[in-house]
Amino acid sequence: MDLSFTADDTAFRAEVKAFLAEKLPETLSDKVRLNKGLSKDDHEFWHAELNKRGWLAPNWPQRFGGAEWGVVQRHIFEEECAMAYAPRVVPFGLAMLAPVLQNFGSEAQQDYWLPRILSGEDWWCQGYSEPGAGSDLAALKTRAVRDGDHYVVTGQKTWTTLGQHANMIFCLVRTDPDAKKQEGISFLLIDMNTPGVEVRPITLIDGGAEVNEVWFTDVRVPVENLVGEENKGWTYAKYLLTHERTNIAGVGFSRAGLDMVKRISSRALSGGRPLIENPHFAARVAQVEIDLMAMSTTNLRIVSKAASGQAPGIESSLLKIKGTQIRQEITDLARRAVGPLAMPFASDAVDGNAPLPDPLDAGAVAASYFNNRKLSIFGGSNEIQREIYAKQMMRDAT
Ligand SMILES: Cc1cc2nc3c(=O)[nH]c(=O)nc-3n(C[C@H](O)[C@H](O)[C@H](O)COP(=O)(O)OP(=O)(O)OC[C@H]3O[C@@H](n4cnc5c(N)ncnc54)[C@H](O)[C@@H]3O)c2cc1C
Repeated sequence: MDLSFTADDTAFRAEVKAFLAEKLPETLSDKVRLNKGLSKDDHEFWHAELNKRGWLAPNWPQRFGGAEWGVVQRHIFEEECAMAYAPRVVPFGLAMLAPVLQNFGSEAQQDYWLPRILSGEDWWCQGYSEPGAGSDLAALKTRAVRDGDHYVVTGQKTWTTLGQHANMIFCLVRTDPDAKKQEGISFLLIDMNTPGVEVRPITLIDGGAEVNEVWFTDVRVPVENLVGEENKGWTYAKYLLTHERTNIAGVGFSRAGLDMVKRISSRALSGGRPLIENPHFAARVAQVEIDLMAMSTTNLRIVSKAASGQAPGIESSLLKIKGTQIRQEITDLARRAVGPLAMPFASDAVDGNAPLPDPLDAGAVAASYFNNRKLSIFGGSNEIQREIYAKQMMRDAT
């Protein structure tokens, strides 16, 4: 297995760095670096810049307007973007819905929806989870009943990320309540401006409101918005989840976070000396750096395997668990490094409005610590990933 980069890979990395240096404004990268909340305009600006360069959809086939990069190029691109503190591209349309439409959508759906995802005309959100259906997603209850050339949708979705900005939501809905639970589900595209759709914000522990409840009361959805076949939605839903779990290790984000911890702890004092010289703190930083190096190598091993055409297996569960543990430890170290300055984590600090004494740029460190508790929950909780991993290991052992 060859883990080294080729000359072409190195040239591509230089090209990405030059693009980021030229196109990513410092005002925007500073917001990402300091964990300030990004506005809808910020997201739309970066979406448009990437689209102009043809780099918005790295994994889409070229015939749909994508870059069709290989896994190594994608890996390099994601790493460089994270290290430059570029905004994360909102994945719901580009990285989740699009592969489903490309594989299971009709030609008319592909022709209509895909260009609108690239242009940013539609902002999509994901309507999977419900109050009683998270890890056990197939227990979902939102109903869609056929009425002529419409479905009538009633029910509730929850944890809908950035639903407040979205005009479209892709939903899993129950179309056959009598079938086995995985078999009565359909995949529906719903215009959020239809009468009967209501978005209610959920305030999170960091003071932000990035997630929402979405309620549906007798919402009429044209039947042409059904993707694939009725009652086959579970197949498309699972396919989408394999795309949700790509880049889950977040190596670039962790490297950027670790740089921040080192920067802060070189300035923060402990007993009159820089905190980074405190043996207990330094040992934790060293341990997480070692873990990150080990995981980065594992990640490259999996990238290399995928580049040679082998599907990534249960290693992606391993990367999800380890990657999120590392990111959570890094946000914990940052919080500890800023000490009492982590206290003003109110939403004002996240929004960049707080006139607080902040010699360590600490305003949003605590908010980031709290916010990142989510990493071990979404994208399939870490407990579920451990179960998947354990079952596979036991199967392999017998
Ligand atoms: C910040 C955030 C953003 C999200 N964004 C979206 C979104 O945009 N769209 C969307 O559809 N969903 C979204 N989700 C929902 C997310 O997918 C679910 O939270 C996740 O699937 C877990 O479901 P749950 O919250 O219902 O917890 P539950 O499934 O009730 O789990 C509760 C706890 O029990 C554990 N558990 C459950 N079952 C088992 C088991 N069989 N074995 C061992 N342990 C188990 C879990 O690991 C967890 O610790 C988001 C969640 C968060 C936190």
